[in-house]
Amino acid sequence: MIPLKTEAELDIMRENGRILALILAELCAEVRPGRDTLFFDRLAEERIKQAGGEPAFRVFAGFPGTINASINEEVVHGVPSEKRILKEGDIFSIDIGMLRNGFVADMATTVPVGEVSDEARRILEVGERSLWEGIKQVRIGHRLSDISHAIGSFVEKEGYHVVREYVGHGVGRALHEDPQIPNYGPPGRGVRLRAGMTLAIEPMVKTDDLPTKLAGDRWTVVTASGGLSVHFEHTVAVTEDEPEVLTAGGE
Ligand code: MG
Repeated sequence: MIPLKTEAELDIMRENGRILALILAELCAEVRPGRDTLFFDRLAEERIKQAGGEPAFRVFAGFPGTINASINEEVVHGVPSEKRILKEGDIFSIDIGMLRNGFVADMATTVPVGEVSDEARRILEVGERSLWEGIKQVRIGHRLSDISHAIGSFVEKEGYHVVREYVGHGVGRALHEDPQIPNYGPPGRGVRLRAGMTLAIEPMVKTDDLPTKLAGDRWTVVTASGGLSVHFEHTVAVTEDEPEVLTAGGE
């Protein structure tokens, strides 16, 4: 069952989304060579607590951190560590979730560390654009897999591949609600979108077309080839007209 949010509930989610977007923007502004990933985790936790929230990935998933901190070939679920130091030319994915006033906001972005290669710049651009291709489909009457198809077909056309093992999801009182939102597949399938649905859309884009692997820490998901991977995510509400990106405003 897909929970529909009332206007009052959406107001809470809007506020949470705005707060989280500002926190993520602050984290991104701190990205530079020489910083360890635990620095970002501590800052994120401090800001979330100052806002009266809790780290959603700890609460709902038992994740040992406030953010997923994933570098280069790490796709998602990288565990923050003082031993992981960002270096010039890396790409750094930060996924962050906050539970506040009973509702979750979930978002992610990947940013360059200093000067990066042309290849890195290109996959960053394709990953971000694929998220917006998906968001465009968040309209009443469209079907769920229209989002999946828009993302997957765009990414393939650009010569990259989506991760298939991890998917977007409904989000609200829980971090993961129905429905699941794969980043690939044919259009025109699944439920019709209705006002009040709130969806975390999150393409993970990589250079290879192989299944991902789990690293030795049992958390970090990595590409099988060691190729780059990027991750972009927004929490989006279905409204009577335009898609409403609840986690916007941090740019
Ligand atoms: Mg998510």
